[in-house]
Amino acid sequence: MTSDRAPTVDHVKGYCGLCIARCGTIATVADGRFIRLDPDPAHPTGAAICAKGRAAPELVYHRDRLTRPLRRTRPKGDPDPGWEEISWDMALDLIAAAMRRTAAQYGPEAVAFSMSSPSTTAIADSAPFVRRLMNAFGTPNLVWALDLCGWGRGFATRYVFGVGSVATGGAGGAMPDIARTGCLILWGYNPSFTRITHATATVAGLKRGMKLVVIDPRNVGLANKADVWLRVRPGADGALALGLANVMIQRGWYDQEFVRAWSNGPLLVRSDTNMLLKAEDVFPNAGRGSFVAWDMRSSSIVRYDPVTGQYDPSPGHLSLQGEYAVETIDGAVSCRPVFDHYAGLCRQYSPETIARTCWISPEQLAEAARTIWVSRPVSYYAWSGHEHHANTTETARAIAMLYALTGSFDAPGGNVLLPSVPTVPITGEDLAPGLAPAIGVAERPLGPARWDNVSTHDFYRGVLEGDPYPVRTLIGFGANLLLAQADPVRGRAALSSLDFYAHADLFMNPTAALADIVLPVASCFEREALKIGFEISEDAQSHVQFRSRIVSPPGEALPDTDVVFGLAKRLGLEKRFWNGDVDAAYREQLASSGISLEQLRAEPAGRRSSLTATHYKYQAPDERGNARGFPTPTRKVEFWSETFADHGYSALPQFIETAVSGTSQPADMFPLILTCAKPSLFCQSQHRALPILRKRLPYPEVELHPMTAAAREIRDGDWVEVRTSSGAMRAKARFNETLDNRVVVGQHGWWQGCTELEIAGSDPTDPTGNNFNLTVDATMRDPISGTPSHRFNMCDIRLLRSNAHAGYRGMA
Ligand code: SF4
Repeated sequence: MTSDRAPTVDHVKGYCGLCIARCGTIATVADGRFIRLDPDPAHPTGAAICAKGRAAPELVYHRDRLTRPLRRTRPKGDPDPGWEEISWDMALDLIAAAMRRTAAQYGPEAVAFSMSSPSTTAIADSAPFVRRLMNAFGTPNLVWALDLCGWGRGFATRYVFGVGSVATGGAGGAMPDIARTGCLILWGYNPSFTRITHATATVAGLKRGMKLVVIDPRNVGLANKADVWLRVRPGADGALALGLANVMIQRGWYDQEFVRAWSNGPLLVRSDTNMLLKAEDVFPNAGRGSFVAWDMRSSSIVRYDPVTGQYDPSPGHLSLQGEYAVETIDGAVSCRPVFDHYAGLCRQYSPETIARTCWISPEQLAEAARTIWVSRPVSYYAWSGHEHHANTTETARAIAMLYALTGSFDAPGGNVLLPSVPTVPITGEDLAPGLAPAIGVAERPLGPARWDNVSTHDFYRGVLEGDPYPVRTLIGFGANLLLAQADPVRGRAALSSLDFYAHADLFMNPTAALADIVLPVASCFEREALKIGFEISEDAQSHVQFRSRIVSPPGEALPDTDVVFGLAKRLGLEKRFWNGDVDAAYREQLASSGISLEQLRAEPAGRRSSLTATHYKYQAPDERGNARGFPTPTRKVEFWSETFADHGYSALPQFIETAVSGTSQPADMFPLILTCAKPSLFCQSQHRALPILRKRLPYPEVELHPMTAAAREIRDGDWVEVRTSSGAMRAKARFNETLDNRVVVGQHGWWQGCTELEIAGSDPTDPTGNNFNLTVDATMRDPISGTPSHRFNMCDIRLLRSNAHAGYRGMA
């Protein structure tokens, strides 16, 4: 029987939580069913949404969603885990008991947490609560992909500017003021696929005449609209940054006033120790901590005090170049300014060297440098294209220093430290005095572990070798480690050997399949969440929104936040979790904002708070009347990092060629450079079960130049094997004539089947399957951050004549 009744249709304003763009949206709900998602043009991030957002109803109603807590009843390693449905009470009781057991035997740090990336999943809704639970419980060990995503742009650049010169979501940092910039640099960043809000802002900028420089091995996204597209060799970004800086310095295309006044470029470096000359080396009565520069007008030294940011006596004209004999307590010492050292480093990256190393012609290099200089103010955003490398820290520092030359930091149209709506932090740092050091701090004290973020490599070491201490329990919030990270074989061994592992997720996946308990979680369309500031602009930052639930989650699925609160209660931490009242947590967060939770609930489209961006904040006076400067040890932008030198690293951003060089003569067996990039249709390892998306890209692809293919008798669309010295994977060949014929581009994250299209899943540890990360050499790691070389491995590629793909079996 059919009904003639018109459906009841609701339009629910909110935002899509699936990725960092957090696009403003309007959901259409007909008779209680979520049927479509559209952009909300009134929202500061609502100009457009992507295919993943449009597929949201398929995600919500997918038949493979987890709906009940599951308990393993058969041993790990058994092909049948014997999943048994259990109640939430039993699941949470079992997890809390395991956490207590591990803590009692080994200490709370033996319980690690893992979390998916807030940039590419909806975990941002719950991430502060996860960290709070860790702090309250007493463990520093969060296995999160900071070494792969966010480290370079948001943390390594802190060693130059004191703050991230590129913002990373909740970690703060400076955001490109695209609406007012003269030249935008997109470095290893394709916002058309990863942050559509930046793509639409860039297109608007181009319409008003903004210049665009894109640095990417591939001509994707906005590269074909760029004024200059630099097809950099994968892994050579650091050399390119130094080469661009060299051209700019040689031609005088840099902001000398900024460098002189606001960087540590004028400070003198002793030639005998290769350390900054200290005032106490020169003046017997000088206190500790001051430095020395050379004043050209008086032809004498001046003392620089980082506490005040002042020179004494006030200099006439600080030198940035040259060599000076300085009379120290121990005799004359030859010294050169920091900037002279930096310029000397950059000179090593001449246009000819860049042509050889980066495969960029001298003409293009000069054109890029000229465009950057003449089109100021400059802003930039750099993402995983420069971060997935074993030299990412120095690369990110080199890019940040190149940016410093423009003098555009925190200028209108530059990378601006945008204001935020005042909030009360809820991550519970105050609950965690005396945490054990995170795993990895001892080996890499300046890396992600310094901020309590543990790489999978170090986590696996803790689990398998008990080094530096045992890790025996893992509480996972969505991180599909076997697909997201290098060395899935070791990962499987580590996860299988844990005493206890609980995993919360939307779908079963190869990582969750190794858990003892799997918890079903609500998608971002099935739960409430609070978002304070939408990051990409002053206007967006002023927007505060409480996202309402569009529909109920399937079965008994619950928000990750409820999982955290449920565990806190069972761990005796309820008082630290607002006695189980999630709304009370939001109220506390909003307490200093001037906005109430009730107001936000009444206005689902969100509210604007009054915010005004200020600029050049480093020039503003502090409480003592001195210019604030930058929050670095020298209070200046640091071209020279004594922090690095003190830890045995180079004070200058040396370009470190990844161990297997693509510029010299690669081994005959592996003549091609293998890099990777995200496809536009899926967030990392997710979404491939959705037919609406999978139809458009049914199988993993590997891009290669037709010449490279012809030499191997490969046709467009053939199945091929990609092999490195570490392993192999299979994908379909896709011709790309804009690629360098020495470069091959794969895609990571493939494992999931799509039942509706009769495509089976694949085993992430099987080289006849589709896991790109099997080809990654996990031993090639950034010495400072531990980042593995996901985007640079030497490979070869061969035709699979039978087009067999034996990896398509197992988990559908
Ligand atoms: S870009 Fe797509 S996935 Fe990301 S928030 Fe916007 S609609 Fe959602």
